[in-house]
Amino acid sequence: MNALGFAAQSAASPLESFAFERRAPRPDDVVIDILYCGVCHTDVHMARNHFGFTTYPIVPGHEIIGRVREVGPGVSRFKAGDMVGVGCMVDSCQHCKPCLKGWEQDCVEGPTFSYNGQDRQGGSITYGGYSDSIVVRDKFVLSLPGGLDPAGAAPLLCAGITTWSPLHRWNVGKDSKVAVIGLGGLGHMALKLAKALGADVTLFTRSAGKEQDAFRLGADHVVLSSDPEQMEAVAGRFDVIVDTVPYDHDVNPYMPTLALEGVLVLVGYLGPLGTPVNAGGVVRGRRAISGSFIGGVPETQEMLDFCGRHGIVSDVEIIPIQKINEAYERMLKSDVKYRFVIDMASLKS
Ligand code: NAP
Ligand code: ZN
Ligand code: ZN
Repeated sequence: MNALGFAAQSAASPLESFAFERRAPRPDDVVIDILYCGVCHTDVHMARNHFGFTTYPIVPGHEIIGRVREVGPGVSRFKAGDMVGVGCMVDSCQHCKPCLKGWEQDCVEGPTFSYNGQDRQGGSITYGGYSDSIVVRDKFVLSLPGGLDPAGAAPLLCAGITTWSPLHRWNVGKDSKVAVIGLGGLGHMALKLAKALGADVTLFTRSAGKEQDAFRLGADHVVLSSDPEQMEAVAGRFDVIVDTVPYDHDVNPYMPTLALEGVLVLVGYLGPLGTPVNAGGVVRGRRAISGSFIGGVPETQEMLDFCGRHGIVSDVEIIPIQKINEAYERMLKSDVKYRFVIDMASLKS
C-alpha cells in the first residue's frame, strides 16, 4: 500500500518527505487515514538514536487519531468512517502472561511498536504516524469517544496512557496527594488526569513562570524544585510522584517529599541514574521507587472513555508537518504548551 510521510534518514538528518510502502492489509487489519499525530519526546529520542537501536529511515509518531478507511473481513469492532486512535503498539504475541492480563506493552516476546518495530508476520519495519495512513491489527485500535476534539485527543494515546497507568495502578483518588515532576507533554496530562481523579495535585518544576499554566491545568500547588525551602515545605507529603523528566537527574531530593509508603514512579527516563539512589531515603518511611511503561490496550480504552466522560484532552499547538524539525528544537527547550500535534492535511501541501 502506497503511503506518504516524513522520515529521518540518519540520527543527524532532519525529517523530510518520504514516500514508502506499507504492508498489505490482512483479514484482521484496520486501514486508517491519519488526521492528527502528536509529537512525543520519545520521537526525538528515536529519530536521533538516543537509545542506540533506531533503524533508518524512521517515520516516528505514536499518538495517532484517524478515520477508518476500510476493514478486513475478520474485523467486527470497526467500520469505515469510525474515528479511532492508535498508540505506541500495533501488535503483540497475545498469549504470554502480560498479554493475557492486558499488559501488551510488557509482552514477553516484545510488543510490535508502531514505529521502528518489526511486523510479526511479514518482518517488515513498522512506520509510525507522521504519515497519511496506517495499517493496524484490530485489537490495537482504540475507539475515540464522541465529543472529544480529535487533535487534542491525539496525545492521549501516549502521554495520556503513560500517566494514567501509574495513577490507576497506585489507586489515586480523592484522598490522594499526587505530585508530577516536569510540565511537558506527559506532565500536563498527569496534572489533568490526577485532578479529574479527585487528587490534591502538586507540580514540581525547574522552570519559574509555569505556575499560572499549572494551576489552570489542575495543579493545586507548584514547587520550584531548585528552591530548597520550597522542597522542605512539602516534606512527607505525597502518596505518588510521577516523574516525567526525560534525561538523567537526581531523584534523591524528591524522596523526603514522599509520605509513609509513598512511591516515586519513573516514566520519563529509561537509562542509568548518574547519581546513586540513597537507600536510606527509600528504607525510611517504607517508600518505593517504581516505573511504568505506557499502558495496555484495555486500560488505554478505559483512559479514553474516562477522558470522554470528563471532557479531557491535551493542550495542543497544531503544526503543519513541514514544521516538525523546528518543533523538535522547541521541545528540547521546553518551549511547547503542551504538546505539538501535526495536522496531517498539511502533508498534501
Ligand atoms: P517534554 O514534553 O519534553 O516534557 C519534559 C519536561 O521535563 C519538560 O517540560 C521539563 O519540565 C522537564 N525537563 C526537561 N528536561 C529536563 C532536565 N534535563 N532536568 C529536569 N527536568 C527536565 O517530554 P514528554 O513528551 O513529556 O516526555 C517525557 C519523557 O517521557 C521522554 O523521555 C519520553 O521519551 C518519555 N516517555 C516515556 C514513556 C513510558 O512509557 N514510560 C512514554 C512516553 C514518553 P519543567 O520545565 O516543568 O521542569
Ligand atoms: Zn510517546
Ligand atoms: Zn505477549
